Amino acid sequence: MANFESSNCHIFERRRLEGKVALITGGASGIGECTARLFVKHGAKVIIADIQDNLGQAMCEDLNKSEEAISFIQCDVTKESDVQTAVDVAISKYGKLDIMFSNAGIPGNKSNGTVLGADTDYENFRRVFDVNVFGAFLCGKHAARVMMPAKKGSIIFTSSLCSVTSGFVPHAYCASKHAVVGLTKNLGVELGEFGIRVNCISPFGVATPMMLNNLGCGKQKVEEYVCEIANLKEAVLEVNDIAEAALYLGSDESKYISGINLVIDGGYSTTNIALKVGKKKMFP
Ligand code: NAD
Repeated sequence: MANFESSNCHIFERRRLEGKVALITGGASGIGECTARLFVKHGAKVIIADIQDNLGQAMCEDLNKSEEAISFIQCDVTKESDVQTAVDVAISKYGKLDIMFSNAGIPGNKSNGTVLGADTDYENFRRVFDVNVFGAFLCGKHAARVMMPAKKGSIIFTSSLCSVTSGFVPHAYCASKHAVVGLTKNLGVELGEFGIRVNCISPFGVATPMMLNNLGCGKQKVEEYVCEIANLKEAVLEVNDIAEAALYLGSDESKYISGINLVIDGGYSTTNIALKVGKKKMFP
């Protein structure tokens, strides 16, 4: 019994990303920020790449108290030179890149519930695709560039629940997140030969600045709203739940997992939503 307990303690204290180097886009806020903090806790060297300089720098100051575990680079994922530089910084600083968490994303304009609305405006559609799809593609491309010679690596994208359910987010956002799943699978097939795994994570609604802005209310209200429409009761989806999924997909524990869309929705997408919530929308 004593042996069992001590071996269990060892499992829980283990730093699951010891020696690994991770680049996280959209790492200054929300899901990306929480994941960066969790990765550092698990021994990774992390580079956060974002357009929000102040938040990114403040996080580094907060986390680099005893050793330099995290750094920030200004990076707009829609610019190939920015993404290329961010990846090259990982190589020049640490000599490798083990994990690319391509997570930066934007919701675009709100939908007014019609295909003729502001979210289907060309400029909005293009901008959402630029960040959510082209940005993700550039992250995959430049991660592959340095991972292929190393013959290992884990690329993780953030898609969304709307990649498997429809009708509750704007068209541009929904289409962009479907594209991310396609990219995940296509890249996973190409890069398998090089020992590189490619997966994506699709969260249900979680109270990040993106959701707070979209719903125009505070964290508590957002969580109440999400809980009300959720399938799984007695639990609240939090950013850490998404970060834990990224930790798993980035670590060697998932060494044979590639090409999956890990939906984190408490079973929401398996229900008959029409019967449960009528026409209530995630982004009203
Ligand atoms: P967030 O707004 O807190 O974080 C998004 C981050 O991406 C921000 O730090 C922002 O500065 C950064 N970003 C935006 N455009 C960028 C660009 N061009 N280049 C670099 N960085 C850029 O929101 P979040 O909820 O943490 O979103 C993270 C990801 O999760 C997004 O891809 C989002 O679509 C996805 N997602 C969120 C939810 C949710 O309910 N919060 C659900 C499903 C999917």
